[in-house]
Amino acid sequence: MTIYIYKLCCKNPDIKEIYIGFTSRPLYKAFYDHKQIYNNPKHKKYNDTLYKFIRNNGTINNWDIVEVERYDKDLSIQEKNKYKNMWIENLHATLHIYNYDCEEQKKKNEKTEINKKSRKEYMKEYQNQLILCESCGEHIKRNYKYKHNKICKGNK
Ligand SMILES: [Zn+2]
Repeated sequence: MTIYIYKLCCKNPDIKEIYIGFTSRPLYKAFYDHKQIYNNPKHKKYNDTLYKFIRNNGTINNWDIVEVERYDKDLSIQEKNKYKNMWIENLHATLHIYNYDCEEQKKKNEKTEINKKSRKEYMKEYQNQLILCESCGEHIKRNYKYKHNKICKGNK
């Protein structure tokens, strides 16, 4: 059996992003499979980095499938992935799920950061609220309450 490692790349030379995949089928068939996913919003891979990127940069008809390497022997799935990852690294392929996850993680982190910030803002506001001292009838900032209690003479 022959295993092909291929790259998907844009016909526009300004777009350097590529995708690396492997298949044991003729490349035009592998390309057809990608096209099916690209065209099917119900497919679970429809929103993968690759397809999103293609949609954001024209259409899949602007893309080519090109053989990178072929292995004329049976490869285990681990070996296939090993070679695929090797080529992802060698050719600096960026259109993989991995990157999508990174993006998502980044967004999540940013969101947490915002929450943290607003919680801090909220606490600051809370501490600066004026409250009534029931002993002397004065209004004091909440974070001075403890200090105030020590010096408060009361109204009696
Ligand atoms: Zn007081």
